[in-house]
Amino acid sequence: MNSLKRIMADAKARRLPLDLHLHTRFSIDVSKGSSFNDYIVAGDRLGIVPGFLDHFQSEKLGTRGYPFNEDVIPAYLDAYDKARGTGFKSYIGLEVDYYDPILHDDWNVKTTEWLDAHGEEFDYFVGTVHDVLTGTITIPFELEALLKYHDFAAVEDAYFRVLEAGIRSGRFAGFAHLDVVYRFCGESGVVQGDARYYREPRTLAAMELCIQTDTMIELNLRGFDHPWSSTYPSEESFNMFKDGHPGDVFFPGSDSHDVKTFERFAPLTRKYCDLLYG
Ligand SMILES: [Zn+2]
Ligand SMILES: [Zn+2]
Repeated sequence: MNSLKRIMADAKARRLPLDLHLHTRFSIDVSKGSSFNDYIVAGDRLGIVPGFLDHFQSEKLGTRGYPFNEDVIPAYLDAYDKARGTGFKSYIGLEVDYYDPILHDDWNVKTTEWLDAHGEEFDYFVGTVHDVLTGTITIPFELEALLKYHDFAAVEDAYFRVLEAGIRSGRFAGFAHLDVVYRFCGESGVVQGDARYYREPRTLAAMELCIQTDTMIELNLRGFDHPWSSTYPSEESFNMFKDGHPGDVFFPGSDSHDVKTFERFAPLTRKYCDLLYG
């Protein structure tokens, strides 16, 4: 059985809220950040099971200080084991970048090798697409730079092409924030909002493909902090899809990069867990 499916089934049976998308200070986009222990202590207090999902980018392997290099990964795993020993339940996974197979298939090959070697050490691997064409679409100034050379429709096309390939790759138990290409669409964003984005057929097709490939779909709550101001996939897409698919196919994540955000999102996490557990 898909490892995320098993975790969700267990949580549902116990009616225990989960947040499976938490970044510690081991994530490359976190400078100070929180430790495993900080989240586990907060989770215990909030009654929410924390699931870690630090960024894994194979193109960074070999760079000095990268926590997933072979020589230092034991220290990373050791830090988690020590924190886990404190008692409250937790899970450990990785948010794994999938790259455009046309531009960087070598990075995807490296990823597969690494995941094969380290699969036993993690509870789940979640695929993600952050890089499109020559930029990272989840960073505002990089998206702005990208839009100097491409129109947004071309960025969307490329994003959904890579997303489809990533889901089809079959390497991941789940896939993160399926329509995150729209993160900065909306008020005071980088791109003007459009009602179509909230029920984009390619998002729905990606969800369908997840079902076909036994891949769990993240219900990412962090979009409420972004110009998008909805979940990923959007609440509209989520509701449209959920009605036709009564099975358990979603897992919740706040995409917190520090423990304060985890706490701030706790009420939403509980609300969406209740919704998912039915
Ligand atoms: Zn992400
Ligand atoms: Zn994330």
